[in-house]
Amino acid sequence: MPFPTKVARAAGTGASVPVEQCQICGSEKLDTVLSLGYMPPVNQMVPIGQVPRQQPWFPTNLLHCRVCDLVQLGLAVDPVIIFPPEYPYTSGTTKLLRDNFAELYAESSQMLGLKADDLIVDIGSNDGTLISNFQKGGHRILGIEPTDVSKIANERGIPTIQRYFGLDTAKEVKAKHGPATVITAANCFAHIEDVHAIVEGIVEMLAPNGTFISESHYLIPLLDTLQYDTVYHEHLRYYSLASLKHLLEMHGLEVFHARPIPSHGGSIRVYAARKGVHKVQDSVAKMLAAEPRGDAMAKRLADFRRDVVLSKLRLMAMLRDLKEKGARIAGISAPSRASTMVNYVGLDEGIIDYVVEIAGSLKIGKCMPGTAIPVVDEAKLFEDQPDCAVIFSWHIADELAPKLKAKGFKGQLITPLPVPRVL
Ligand SMILES: [Zn+2]
Repeated sequence: MPFPTKVARAAGTGASVPVEQCQICGSEKLDTVLSLGYMPPVNQMVPIGQVPRQQPWFPTNLLHCRVCDLVQLGLAVDPVIIFPPEYPYTSGTTKLLRDNFAELYAESSQMLGLKADDLIVDIGSNDGTLISNFQKGGHRILGIEPTDVSKIANERGIPTIQRYFGLDTAKEVKAKHGPATVITAANCFAHIEDVHAIVEGIVEMLAPNGTFISESHYLIPLLDTLQYDTVYHEHLRYYSLASLKHLLEMHGLEVFHARPIPSHGGSIRVYAARKGVHKVQDSVAKMLAAEPRGDAMAKRLADFRRDVVLSKLRLMAMLRDLKEKGARIAGISAPSRASTMVNYVGLDEGIIDYVVEIAGSLKIGKCMPGTAIPVVDEAKLFEDQPDCAVIFSWHIADELAPKLKAKGFKGQLITPLPVPRVL
């Protein structure tokens, strides 16, 4: 299959560029499968009380490539807009992610028989949470992270270079540190505009018998549990195993193991190496067989669209009933995905009084993107005792709900997805 001739490059434009060709195969046969309307960038949060001013909003459409089945966003937005230097996210703050990365180390070091002098490189290493596990295991490590979070990593003793990743960075790292035995990329493989340039860089840096391990949000649970709220401009591609395999094969890499993992409401961990280095495990064929392809995928996406629209109407109807009884409603936590839900459903400060975040969150004191809903310290929920609260990080509701009750919240808890319901 040919490479795209036209990559939607928004970096440096200060604006956005429509996706006109499939980001993997270059096909122009792209069907719009879902439109969430215009959205503000999810991390665009203005201080509470600031006089409202003009803000950028971007069309948010999901496209389906009829040739390679990749599901992708219809617009690339300049990373300067979506990842501002003050980007309020560090991966180390989430327990589920910390546990997952510890497990990734345990699994991979055993499967690959890693040795002490092996070099492990993490792309999009954030605060070093993932790669610190390899460091504790006694291996040589290097993080590559474009944002200022790299400074936090270095302060924690995790060697990290502050750079965007691409072929040039890959050559530089290889010249200085030698080839990498393992390259990891967790939750950044969907974010970078020119994905072929990333894979090229990975192949350049990878030792002849090295392994590339990626973790990405997985399209299948996204569809199954109606996670339209994970659609926002940071996520340019929504991978199935078939589309990831296809992308890696275009660069001579073979997927030899894959499995679902719980991160972010359902992700996929994929192991790849140069063709023939590892025996391909049964897990690959098994996962591929469970994925819809072609017309079946088109049908699955049409069903998804119908269910997303219904879920919006149902949530609004549930909140309408509560408001008619005079209920006061709060929101629990302000992850990026809450921004998509709030803006798509049309929630505002007349419906949701405030959203709470745990003490220390950088989002406290700001407003939910695109609205005047204030984000405040969680303590307010227990003092104020609103009648009910919508859990915006509903994918971890099982973990959150008992904690909120134990801390003294007496109101109703609502999970908005996959079906709005009172817990
Ligand atoms: Zn395609």
